[in-house]
Amino acid sequence: MKKVLVLEDESSIRGFIVINLRRAGYEVVEAETGEEALQKLHEHPDTRVCLLDIMLPGIDGFEVCRRIRMANPQIGIIMLSARSQEMDKVTGLMTGADDYVTKPFSPAELIARVDALLRRSGEAAPSRSAELLQPPFLLNTDNRTLEKDGVRIKLTQLEYSIVKLFMENRGKALSREAILDAIWGKGYFGELKIVDVNVRRLRLKIEDDAQEPKYISTVWGYGYKWNA
Ligand code: CA
Repeated sequence: MKKVLVLEDESSIRGFIVINLRRAGYEVVEAETGEEALQKLHEHPDTRVCLLDIMLPGIDGFEVCRRIRMANPQIGIIMLSARSQEMDKVTGLMTGADDYVTKPFSPAELIARVDALLRRSGEAAPSRSAELLQPPFLLNTDNRTLEKDGVRIKLTQLEYSIVKLFMENRGKALSREAILDAIWGKGYFGELKIVDVNVRRLRLKIEDDAQEPKYISTVWGYGYKWNA
């Protein structure tokens, strides 16, 4: 069964999330503090997605996110942010989260996000050629890895999916809406801004100079274009 870790210190909110995930068919591991979440994750290495509250006693959700991501680039991470934490959203994504949900959220929205994240990370490798070479980049769709000049670049599942989309559409301007639909799915409830946040993070990883991007160029008022 697909396992989801829920880190939330408020027991009423945690209970609400847990009950809805179980109804949707997920196995749930619960944690009340960041320290407990890291311990539980250690005991359940088959966990596929983590839902992390931000404001917690002890280490906060961002720090938990950072530590999980350091040890595991594959796992899906969704931050649970309060409405007053607008800036937290962006920061959360920059520390390695794949998505965020703003409280209060509906069960349907939360489940849709978890489903979408799992779909992306569980995407089957295509049967055709497993390698896509566009110097200096080499994308391996079997291992879901990216190399630049022979050096492996550590990507999250989400970043990998975006690079793959770009490489399959080389030289073509992609609208932010098209990227959102392709990567997050048509039922995604979030904002277009999430595309920009992820592109910004991707540039830091793959560009020679993220301030002067050469591979992912901005198409003003529209979206982005891959130029490798
Ligand atoms: Ca909290």
